[in-house]
Amino acid sequence: MQTPVQNYHQLNNEIQTLCQHQPLLLAVSKTVSIEDMMSLYCEGVRDFGESRPQEIIRKAAEMPSDCRWHLIGQLQKNKIRKILPFLHLIHSVDSEELLMRIESIAAELQLFPKVLFEVNISGEESKSGFTPEQLRCLAPTFSQLHHAQPYGLMTMAPYDADEQQLHAIFGQLRTLRDELQTQHSLKLPELSMGMSNDYRIALAEGSTIVRLGSCLFGERIYNKPI
Ligand SMILES: *Cc1c(COP(=O)(O)O)cnc(C)c1O
Repeated sequence: MQTPVQNYHQLNNEIQTLCQHQPLLLAVSKTVSIEDMMSLYCEGVRDFGESRPQEIIRKAAEMPSDCRWHLIGQLQKNKIRKILPFLHLIHSVDSEELLMRIESIAAELQLFPKVLFEVNISGEESKSGFTPEQLRCLAPTFSQLHHAQPYGLMTMAPYDADEQQLHAIFGQLRTLRDELQTQHSLKLPELSMGMSNDYRIALAEGSTIVRLGSCLFGERIYNKPI
């Protein structure tokens, strides 16, 4: 078993050799201890991804103040006001209603949160997110936002997809981003795609943010065995 620090250096080196561009290695730290997070902080890691607003608020109080917190899980509307001041980037805007609510609360709080739109490329019913078509319809309204800042797209691939399907899914997210940028004169620099099991393919397809949990910190244990 390697330590998170050893994993981090190994992944970092691998990512350098895989890509021309400099993607962000987002350390997905849900359920991970402050101690393990601090070990990566000491190696220079500042970007941490969490699924639950509550966990960000708790950890932000214990971690150094220059950490950048990324929300990668579903955001409930009643949590926006409380969590918004903590967030560097929201990866998981999955409905127009949520976007509008973020916009109005950001206006009240005078914040300018960057948001990514979660796209359900594979069309799996269990997944949240916009269909590509829904996002094409929504994009013309982005120019009316004065606080929320559309900043890119995010997707999650099905767990059982094979290599060819993964290339297709990540490639489609990139193509959709390129299309939205040109058709609506938008700047959408970030493509948040790739997790522990598929980050190499995501990087080959132009990912700018890989969200890595288990390959960095080890397998998560949500329910301790008896
Ligand atoms: C947990 C999670 C990850 C990290 O998953 P690993 O397979 O452990 O790397 C990435 N993205 C999202 C949205 C997650 O919820």
